[in-house]
Amino acid sequence: MLEYKCAWYGRDLVVVDRWFPSSKLCGTCGEIRESLPLNVREWTCACGTLHDRDVNAARNILAAGLAAVACGGGVRPQRESSRTGRSSTKQEAQRATAGIPRR
Ligand SMILES: [Zn+2]
Repeated sequence: MLEYKCAWYGRDLVVVDRWFPSSKLCGTCGEIRESLPLNVREWTCACGTLHDRDVNAARNILAAGLAAVACGGGVRPQRESSRTGRSSTKQEAQRATAGIPRR
């Protein structure tokens, strides 16, 4: 759905790797938590930043997408399952994607 919606609105779709630690990564200092069970909706990083799990993940995914565009990275990297042959099911159901405005 994101592919055709991005086409409608003149956006480029950048697919972030399924295993990108979007929730566990502190968007402020870059630390990555070892674990973050799904029932933990807010957490405080060692740097003192209080994160809403989903808002932090959304910011990290946007930053990763913008970095991929800025670095000329592949806009459509192969999906994990087609690269490794294994089924890739992350603990969270949502795909890690961000719509990036065309320049
Ligand atoms: Zn931090």
